[in-house]
Amino acid sequence: MSDIKSALAEIKSELDGTNARLVAVSKTKPISMLQEAYDAGQRHFGENKAQEMTEKFEALPDDIFWHMIGHLQRNKVKFIAPYVYLIHSVDSLRLLKEINKEAKKNDRVINCLLQVHIAEETTKFGFDKGELLSLINSKELDELKNVKIVGLMGMATYTDDTSKIRSEFQVLNSIFSELKTEQKHNLELSELSMGMSSDYAIALEEGSTLIRVGSNIFGERNYA
Ligand SMILES: *Cc1c(COP(=O)(O)O)cnc(C)c1O
Repeated sequence: MSDIKSALAEIKSELDGTNARLVAVSKTKPISMLQEAYDAGQRHFGENKAQEMTEKFEALPDDIFWHMIGHLQRNKVKFIAPYVYLIHSVDSLRLLKEINKEAKKNDRVINCLLQVHIAEETTKFGFDKGELLSLINSKELDELKNVKIVGLMGMATYTDDTSKIRSEFQVLNSIFSELKTEQKHNLELSELSMGMSSDYAIALEEGSTLIRVGSNIFGERNYA
């Protein structure tokens, strides 16, 4: 078995008995490696750059579900709006409005996750709890007919301290549970995107429904 195939099989076995699905994070990796994962049955792929994702979308089979997981600039939304399956990294109302506008042009509804800032590092994007609540309760959200908020995404602090990682995931899950009861025409939370190569095992224990794993499948990257 190839390395990619065996890594996928290993992770899939860890997902047995959980509600979670695997997003294979293929950013910076060549199309041949994505094809290999596809041939092993993988259908959900995550990328962090709009142009790179679009090139891969055009080159690969059309039954792939494409996840945008990286910080998304508003002027890039138009490239992915025709086909993206889920945008994990919505970190402002302005971005959400742009996604809504481009989704409308494409006559579709785009599923989105709101990114929540749970890590210690100040460099990570995302809403804090107060900002999240005011977005969810805003009148402006009600007007967006072409987006649907289906969950939350977060990234834990990059650290060896597993108890810190666990408590950050717990914070995210408790916000998720609190907001799950809220229902609007474009808000119905069911997905909790948390966990990467180094911490997905903890994330699964803390209720993740979508793990985003890259280097454990495709090997280390040369750049972010
Ligand atoms: C790159 C990236 C991942 C995957 O990271 P690995 O450590 O390679 O598993 C997950 N989530 C986001 C947001 C990323 O940018």
